[in-house]
Amino acid sequence: MQNVDFEIVVVGGGIVGLASAYKIASAHPGIRIAVLEKEDFLAAHQTGHNSGVIHSGLYYKPGSAKAKTCAKGREELVKFAAEHGIAHDICGKIIVATDEKELVRLDELFEKGQANEIEGIERIGAERIEEIEPACRGIAGLWVPCTGIIDFVQVAQKLAELIEAQGDGNKVLTGHEVIGFEKHDFYTKVVTNRGGFSTKYVINCAGLQCDRVAKLDGVKPGVRIIPFRGDYYELTEAARDKVKGLIYPVPDPAFPFLGVHFTRMIDGSVECGPNAVFSFKREGYGKTDFSLRDSWDSLAYWGTWRMFMKNWMYGLGEYRRAFSKKLFLRGLQRLIPSLGAEDIKPCKAGVRAQALGPKGELIDDFFIKRERNFIHVLNAPSPAAAASLAIGDCINEMATEYFGLEDKVKEKEPQKTQRKRKGKSEGGETPGTGKQPKRKKRKSAGKKRKPGNASRKKD
Ligand SMILES: Cc1cc2nc3c(=O)[nH]c(=O)nc-3n(C[C@H](O)[C@H](O)[C@H](O)COP(=O)(O)OP(=O)(O)OC[C@H]3O[C@@H](n4cnc5c(N)ncnc54)[C@H](O)[C@@H]3O)c2cc1C
Repeated sequence: MQNVDFEIVVVGGGIVGLASAYKIASAHPGIRIAVLEKEDFLAAHQTGHNSGVIHSGLYYKPGSAKAKTCAKGREELVKFAAEHGIAHDICGKIIVATDEKELVRLDELFEKGQANEIEGIERIGAERIEEIEPACRGIAGLWVPCTGIIDFVQVAQKLAELIEAQGDGNKVLTGHEVIGFEKHDFYTKVVTNRGGFSTKYVINCAGLQCDRVAKLDGVKPGVRIIPFRGDYYELTEAARDKVKGLIYPVPDPAFPFLGVHFTRMIDGSVECGPNAVFSFKREGYGKTDFSLRDSWDSLAYWGTWRMFMKNWMYGLGEYRRAFSKKLFLRGLQRLIPSLGAEDIKPCKAGVRAQALGPKGELIDDFFIKRERNFIHVLNAPSPAAAASLAIGDCINEMATEYFGLEDKVKEKEPQKTQRKRKGKSEGGETPGTGKQPKRKKRKSAGKKRKPGNASRKKD
């Protein structure tokens, strides 16, 4: 058997890829693992363009992967931040109903919060809202004391440091874009813009590009990544006092987005947003950014048109708001009526990687697909940053089981065992990060896979 450069290559230096590599490196010291990031710095996309909120886990369907990993990941993240001196603040948040019509949804959310065992969650009235956030007005709300804020970029950088510290053979390499996979009998060559690396296993955590990376492996992702841009404004320094912590509206359960909210960031600034508009560029942060390839990929997919047809009213509203400060402000004034146009100024934008199914359904839960010696993370939307360490645990469990990692450090197994293990890790997919469904015996098992975009070579 040929020696490989790394046992595992993780594609993507966002928080999910780094947390997964960190968990694997910690659980299996001696394994050589590389994280390849195409940009010149880590956390360049979603991880570096988000709201920085350590979500409580309140919103998610009880029992779903999001609910489970968010609660677990949050607790671990707070400990991790304290241990490594990463600034964070468990400042709590309020969710505010401003209209009678929202009360039913607020109550449902409260029940969900209780079912998810969110510590300290309280149903509050108008007076208590004003006590917590003096500038905010509402008729009822929820107080969620365990929600917090953090700088996820710092978390990502610390994870990278720890991965490399775990073993001499571990590498976190920026400026390495994965452009293909060459399949050999006992290893895969990961082809990058700067040469190739041989590896036994690959974990795809490429965020906005994850469906494309899956296709490079010859896998049909079954979903398409549709980019949704979120624009933020920020409060001017003079207006910052109007927000003490985090103020959220009651979300519309039809959408996986939480609605425009106020977030006090860890550096003391206060961001307002994000909205959610269909974007014509996956990594485009300007309002008019356009990519022919990205637009074609989105618009040539039936799911996108079905989603447009189902949600055109909502989409149109979001579009108008994206181009009109007045409309954006009106949304914010529902929560803080005293806010004026002079109090807000445009700031950053972020783009969400939202997996969309062929029927136009926005995939809500995390979605991970396993295919031979690959694991593909195909939907890791919010709260994946808050939940990243718990997602890392799940991926480590999957990798340990399906890649047979316990033995890998012992190196150079007899080929017979290898073949057996190869058979064991034939395909499977799971919404969420829970247990894999029972494997069906596939006729093709044991046969060489048609490589799709990837090419298979003999050793
Ligand atoms: C506007 C916005 C607000 C959000 N707010 C929150 C929040 O408050 N709390 C929270 O928990 N979550 C939040 N999220 C969600 C959270 O940011 C994401 O779920 C999380 O960052 C996903 O991490 P990731 O590593 O999967 O993706 P990313 O951070 O996007 O990382 C993927 C990486 O893969 C790299 N890559 C892609 N293709 C290749 C390739 N071919 N070769 C090498 N590298 C490649 C990319 O350059 C990128 O760095 C928010 C997201 C957005 C967009």
